[in-house]
Formats: sequence, structure tokens, C-alpha cells
Amino acid sequence: MTDLTATDFPPGPLRAEARIDLDAIRANTRRVGQIVAESGAGVMAVVKADAYGHGAVPCARAAKQAGAAWLGTALPEEALELRAAGLTGPILAWLHPAGGPWDELIVQEIDVTGYAPWVLEEITAAAQRLGIPARVQLKADTGLGRGGTQPHDWLELVELAAKAEAAGHIRVTGVWSHFACADEPGHPSIRSQLDLFREALAVADHAGLRPEVRHIANSPAALSLPEAHFDLVRSGLALYGLSPLPDTTPADFGLRPAMSLRARVALVKNAPAEHGVSYGHIYHTAAPTTLALVPLGYADGLPRNSSNVGEVFIGGRRHRIAGRMAMDQFVVDLGDPDADRDVQVGDEVLIFGSGEHGEPTADDWARATGTLNYEIVTRIGPRVPRVYVGNS
Ligand SMILES: *Cc1c(COP(=O)(O)O)cnc(C)c1O
Repeated sequence: MTDLTATDFPPGPLRAEARIDLDAIRANTRRVGQIVAESGAGVMAVVKADAYGHGAVPCARAAKQAGAAWLGTALPEEALELRAAGLTGPILAWLHPAGGPWDELIVQEIDVTGYAPWVLEEITAAAQRLGIPARVQLKADTGLGRGGTQPHDWLELVELAAKAEAAGHIRVTGVWSHFACADEPGHPSIRSQLDLFREALAVADHAGLRPEVRHIANSPAALSLPEAHFDLVRSGLALYGLSPLPDTTPADFGLRPAMSLRARVALVKNAPAEHGVSYGHIYHTAAPTTLALVPLGYADGLPRNSSNVGEVFIGGRRHRIAGRMAMDQFVVDLGDPDADRDVQVGDEVLIFGSGEHGEPTADDWARATGTLNYEIVTRIGPRVPRVYVGNS
């Protein structure tokens, strides 16, 4: 019954949608580009995990239109999907299962990541067999303790790469690393990782490697740590318009959330006082009231622990989830026995959005459920269609 309902969610059978504003993705990419250009760095748009749930191909296109020179994915198949969709230019993948698929990646000119001697040996063998030099970036573990090569093995990896490059089998296009605590500005590990990264670069340089790009910064470092920018920042979250830094809003950095999650009210009904609501009856109505049923659930990616705490926006107001979040649906207590005059079946429920109308944001959902905004948007499931707007 609100303006939002009338203007934003056109009539039709749609149960729910994740609306993605590609203009916002473009504006956010330009904004990050502007921030890091002061350090002389470029932007790699990280579009792994289906662009954090926003849709990899449309978001990759939008980011490239807005000046992102590189695209980055975790998995090789994510990188190959971008190529198959016609995206040109450099793409880096960084998490390879044993076995590649090196041939396809090399043929498609996707930069692969060498993070251990065995990976480099597999890549070199494939490139030699194909007779096409592989584009390889070397990854140093400067302290994250996850992927990458430890400092004591770095020289061995670098020498192996230099030998393969001299033989014409590979071209070392990049050297990179990843922060553990960039989202905690001032954390001592940031300084020590930067020191170790510079040492790793010096070792590579000494061995004669001349990478096109050196990079360590993710979104939090891109926004808060200019000395970490080097040649390229690998930015994901900021491009989707969310802030990676604590106690900040996207607007603090000139960013705008690109995803809003919407559903339609599926049922409105009156209920008496002290009526249990949803599984386990962890909620009871306080007084005669109106209940609205929303057809989205944890199968669609809404956290189950939003039960009784998550908020949604219906009829221009925030309402709390009443009772358990179920697999496909949840209930909202509209708090008024006459609310069925105002809220009807088919009305729009804004689960989260940019916040500009007063609706909850992905940050609000993250706070309510004890997780990160990263997880809230990324886990929105395949059952929710993505609808693109701002595709100018
Ligand atoms: C996911 C990821 C990024 C992007 O991180 P954001 O904080 O979303 O910018 C960068 N680099 C690596 C290695 C990643 O896995």
C-alpha cells in the first residue's frame, strides 16, 4: 500500500527478487578507482561467488565499464565462466584444485596462481605440452596463514618460476599476497605483512622476475591503507556498495549498496492474543493482531538465527520477524488487529536495501544475526531471481 509497493515492485507472480543496481556497481567501482588512483593503482573487480551473490557476469561487465582493468575470481570455473560470457582483458583465479584445469585456463589466457612448487610444476608441464606460455602470478603467505607460500619456501618458488620463465613455458605476470586483519586498522599484523610482502617482492626482483602487477590490498586496505595499494587493489565488497570497515557506513566512503532483497506478502490474517507463531512457538502474540506471511526462508539464504530478531520493511515501517525463520517462509506480527486494512497480499516486503527509505540494510541483518555483511549478500540463494536495474 506504500509508494514503494506501487512504484518499485510491479504486479506479477514474482515471489521474491534480489534487485541489483548496476549503476551503483559502476559508481562504486569509479569511487574505489578514484581513491586508489591517488597511489597510482588500478582496480581488480573481485567477482567470485557469483559476485557475492549479485551475479558475476553483469557485475563484471559493469565494473569493467567503470574502469576496473582486472577481474578476479577464486575458482578457475568462475574465471572460465567470465571468458565464456565474452569478457576480455586480464582475469586472475587463485584457488586451484589439483589438476587445474590448466589447459583450459592457459588457452583462455587466464592468470593462474602459483602458491606452491607442485602447482607451478603442474602449470609448467601443461604449458609446455600446449606450447602456449601460461600467465602465472606467485602468491606469498606474508602472515595470513591460509593460501600462499611461506617465507622460508619463497626463494625456491621464485627460482622455479624464473627457470620456467627462462625456458619460455610461463610468464610471471604478478606477485601478490593477502591480509589477515585489514579490517582492523592499526592491527600489528598489517605492518608485518607489508614488510614481508616488500621482502618477497625484492626476492622476486633479484631473481629477475618483472611482474606486471604487485598487489596485496582487499577492500578494507583499498579504503584505509594507501601504502598497501601497490599496482592493483583486489576489491569485492566495496564494489557492491558495502563497507568492510567496522563502525562505518557505505556513505562514509561514497559507496551505495547495490542489492536490495524484496518479497511479496503471501498471506495476511488476524490472530488472537497469545497465539504461538511458527515452529517451536518461540513467539506468542501479545494481543489480538495481524500476521503477515513472507515467502522467503533459510533455503533462500536468510540466516535461521534471524528468528525473533531480524527486521523487514512493510508498508513504510520496520517490523520484526515473529518466531522461527523457516526454510521457505517467515511471519511478521504487524502489531495491530486492523493492519489488514493497510497491508495486503502481494504488497512489497523489503528485507534489506540501501537504507534510504528507512528499510533495514545488509549491515543491520549482519548485526542482528552475528555475522558480516559479506555473508548476508553472498548467501542469497539461486531460488531468488536476480533482477537488474540501472543497466544504462
Ligand atoms: C575475496 C577476496 C578479495 C576481496 O575481498 P574484499 O574484502 O571483498 O574486497 C581479495 N583477495 C582475495 C584473495 C580474496 O579471496
